[in-house]
Amino acid sequence: MFRAKMEYEAVIGLETHVQLKTKSKMWCGCANAFGAEPNTNVCPICLGMPGVLPVANEEALKLTVLTGLLLNCEIPPRAKFDRKNYFYPDVAKNYQVTQYDQPSTKNGYVEFEFGGNLSRVRITRAHLEEDVGKNFHFDRNSGVDFNRAGVPLLEIVSEPDLTSSDQAYEYLNALLEILRYGKISDCDMEKGMVRCDVNVSVRPVGSKELGAKIEIKNMNSFSGVRRALEYEIPRQIEVVKKGGKLIQSTRRWDDVAGVTEEMRTKEHAHDYRYFPEPDLMPFEPTAQWLEEINSRVVELPLARKQRFMRDYQLPKSDAETFVNDVPLGNYFEPIAKKSKNPKAVANWVINNMRAKMADLRQSKFMEMEPPPFDPPKIGYEDLKFKPEAILELVNLVDAKTISSAAAQTVFAEMFESGKSPAAIVQEKGLAQVSDTGAIEKFCDDAIAANPNSVADYKAGKIAALNFLKGQVMKLSKGKANPNLVGEILEKKLKV
Ligand code: ADP
Ligand code: MG
Ligand code: ZN
Repeated sequence: MFRAKMEYEAVIGLETHVQLKTKSKMWCGCANAFGAEPNTNVCPICLGMPGVLPVANEEALKLTVLTGLLLNCEIPPRAKFDRKNYFYPDVAKNYQVTQYDQPSTKNGYVEFEFGGNLSRVRITRAHLEEDVGKNFHFDRNSGVDFNRAGVPLLEIVSEPDLTSSDQAYEYLNALLEILRYGKISDCDMEKGMVRCDVNVSVRPVGSKELGAKIEIKNMNSFSGVRRALEYEIPRQIEVVKKGGKLIQSTRRWDDVAGVTEEMRTKEHAHDYRYFPEPDLMPFEPTAQWLEEINSRVVELPLARKQRFMRDYQLPKSDAETFVNDVPLGNYFEPIAKKSKNPKAVANWVINNMRAKMADLRQSKFMEMEPPPFDPPKIGYEDLKFKPEAILELVNLVDAKTISSAAAQTVFAEMFESGKSPAAIVQEKGLAQVSDTGAIEKFCDDAIAANPNSVADYKAGKIAALNFLKGQVMKLSKGKANPNLVGEILEKKLKV
């Protein structure tokens, strides 16, 4: 009875594998490239021939430490590589080189927004290892492609700090965004560059002890992770609520059926017999080497978003646009720094400039024969106008020199011709008339020509004022400053 009333909560820890963005593999000079003919990017080293010697890829070591810095980790003065021994057709050497007890980075954290709050998930470690080959199963036989064998792979292990499927999903997205920002990995899920092992247990709410860890192996999409957890958490709760006992085990996710199934339990768990890799020196980064990596640290996406909101008083949505589209944000920033009205700059950049550039890209694409696979790129350097032109445009509107409607005309023209906003205003005669003498004259004419409307207004029909305003705007060919027109008309009609 007591058990049935108990509430349970989920505890989740993720192990995320990410292929590093290097030119060559971890221990040999073979290309780290996706999509080549099977077994063409291979050599005796990544095929695990006896007697060969690995040489560590320095860029992979750098990207690992850089990841550690981006994830707020400690970088221990000494790291080493170990052999993880097991037999499987995709591991020709019968072991995988990894970092066991002395990883290159440890004890960090990731922060991300979740449910209106800031979540912090601790990172146990991010260590470097090698990817393995890939098995293919055909109708009557199977094959192994070793192109992937020896590709540098980062394993990012989180503490069991996550408590829901949605939070796990947001954590993974935040992690990937950070890795993309740091140019650690292309993180292309379609190309299998990111895979994830999901560890999940349940426990009574309020309990400090962890329940039996159940691991769902080899997930290759984040939505899959979320769905697997949406299935697995209620399943575990159901078992314990019925008085059953969960045991530490490994499960597989069946994406089509939408269920997890048991693969093996702890009794059948591997014993990998880790031991130090004798062919590789322990790794002790020098101060100078670390300094160089420090210089590659970039601002994190969340920090960028907060900074854009704070420094330029932007709404969340604009800041998010500039976080997702980094070049656009970088284009915006120097202009915004000089402007008294950064929000207006953001509007021009996001709503007008980006849309125009997309149109231009599309029309170039349509002209190309034969059509290319990807639409042509149009960079900010290809734009005919200078960023300062946007600043100038915003200033012209704010100074009420031109109306917002005229500003649209100016923008379209400067996009086409690259002429400066001031020159366009001059050329097209777009300046608003703010000269009160001239406006008074237009008002007098409008009043004289429309005695009925004047009478209506004086009889209390407020709408008649808008009609008169419209007449003044017409007389001024749309150039009178509308605020001044309103003021002057009202003043004249009161007497
Ligand atoms: P292993 O040595 O089997 O890989 P670890 O203790 O290193 O296990 O943990 C692997 C992952 O599982 C980590 O992300 C960790 O946070 C998570 N984890 C560990 N215990 C639990 C648990 N009881 N429930 C949920 N996740 C767990
Ligand atoms: Mg594990
Ligand atoms: Zn090779």
